[in-house]
Amino acid sequence: MASGMNECIFCKIIRGDIPAAFALQNPEFVAFPDINPKAPVHLLVMPRAHIRSLNDVAAQDDGFGQRLLAFVASVAAAAGVDKDGYRVIVNNGPDGGQEVDHLHIHVLAGRMLGDLI
Ligand code: AMP
Ligand code: ZN
Repeated sequence: MASGMNECIFCKIIRGDIPAAFALQNPEFVAFPDINPKAPVHLLVMPRAHIRSLNDVAAQDDGFGQRLLAFVASVAAAAGVDKDGYRVIVNNGPDGGQEVDHLHIHVLAGRMLGDLI
């Protein structure tokens, strides 16, 4: 799997090389639909910067994690699912099932998701 930002599929979307319908964006973060949705609402939320996984969050600027989680909540509100509820999932590394090495948070909603853990 390519890991540099030049080859990264999500960096290409963020740069505009590949078109995507951004559900929400600001100078630091973006959200766009997952191409293979697992629920009626399935958005991917991520930093514009090519940060590989949660393992790299500690090295970011102060407040990065707080801003990222607040942006996730804003995405849920913008999608109209904040009241009924939603699930966030972050896959990290091979055992976590991470397929794209650009930190992203799955936001799933729109139906009863059932027990996972
Ligand atoms: P993960 O397994 O957590 O790395 O998830 C990667 C996710 O990216 C999968 O759910 C894919 O469906 C999704 N995905 C891959 N390519 C694209 C794309 N071009 N646009 C939107 N979502 C994508
Ligand atoms: Zn990237």
